[in-house]
Amino acid sequence: MERFIYLDNAATTKAAPEVVEAMLPYFTEYYGNPSSVYGFAAKNKNVVDEQRDVIAKALGANSNEIYFTAGGSESDNWALKAAAEAYKDKGRHIITTKIEHHAILHTGEYLEKNGCEVTYVDVDENGTVKLEDLKKAIRPDTILISVMFANNEIGTIQPIEEIGAIAQENNILFHTDAVQAFGQIPIDVDRCNIDMLSASAHKLNGPKGVGFLYIRKGVKIRSFIHGGGQERKRRAGTSNVPGIVGLGTATERAVRTMEERTGKERELRDYLIDRVLSEIPHSRLNGHRTERLPNNANFSFQFVEGESLLIKLDMKGICASSGSACTSGSLDPSHVLLAIGLPHEIAHGSLRLTLGEETTKEDIGYVIDTLKEIVSGLREMSPLYEDFIKKGHK
Ligand SMILES: *Cc1c(COP(=O)(O)O)cnc(C)c1O
Repeated sequence: MERFIYLDNAATTKAAPEVVEAMLPYFTEYYGNPSSVYGFAAKNKNVVDEQRDVIAKALGANSNEIYFTAGGSESDNWALKAAAEAYKDKGRHIITTKIEHHAILHTGEYLEKNGCEVTYVDVDENGTVKLEDLKKAIRPDTILISVMFANNEIGTIQPIEEIGAIAQENNILFHTDAVQAFGQIPIDVDRCNIDMLSASAHKLNGPKGVGFLYIRKGVKIRSFIHGGGQERKRRAGTSNVPGIVGLGTATERAVRTMEERTGKERELRDYLIDRVLSEIPHSRLNGHRTERLPNNANFSFQFVEGESLLIKLDMKGICASSGSACTSGSLDPSHVLLAIGLPHEIAHGSLRLTLGEETTKEDIGYVIDTLKEIVSGLREMSPLYEDFIKKGHK
């Protein structure tokens, strides 16, 4: 039988059957517009509110602080652009980090062209934000700090509680892109003093194109999409009822299965990391050894080209990634790997493997064996490796 092993769950996940099943009636049976007044549409309005409750509960938030969007990118854009506008009288300075997703980085660049100043704080060699640098970046005109909860490439989990405390002491809004973290690690918006939080259904076995932005009560945030009065007049557009049901069902399921699922993933991840590092010479793990997403492993292999590695893995039925999906296809090495201090040539030889709930130990065993074979095959063709060996290295 031909193998198919999907290890790119940071890019997207398979929708769970129970999620799809919960969505289906809202396409064909209960298709009314939740804004309509007749009884037929009432079920839709109620179901949307129920999903808001589920999500709020998962975060320790209130239901009226959850705003549905079309996914993580929209939520990130909304948080930054609308905060910049609503707080422009206080200042125009925003602090974020060098390792954010492009939905934050490119929004930051856009805002810089439109009168804002953005500071991109450094991370250390593990990909953890340097808190001292973050504190030093704060100015009287700083209106927003945006730091991702966990990184999508190297998996490092940030000290969000500490960052929230710093933001609070300085009376600055705190946004976090929790697209990778939501559903994988417990999040409490009050404990971490989070004012805004982005998440996306398709990263937690839900459908693509739907997500939410948590906005703490009292935060002055303008409408992002203008039109009808949906989402408390802050995000116009007929509610994506099936998508929202999918998001809510995926959230409920992720919370319910979190402990067991991530426990199993963590064990497999560590098995993968330990064997790769011990059995493949000149390899390194990128990201924090322990403060990392339960399903993320990111390696660099010296003398190997990441793209070639991906193609060869694909031929063996293994789906993986060399950086974020958005940077694949371009020749620039990942901004995240450069930010943790990897030289270009090593960043180029990187591989991200992100496990899913269906990944088995047998899959991982096959991946390790295949990887060993491919890496040594590629090295045999590398003139740089040949020189290295000639110089007496092993
Ligand atoms: C996937 C991802 C996004 C984008 O979410 P979409 O729903 O695909 O728009 C943003 N931030 C992070 C960290 C992500 O992993």
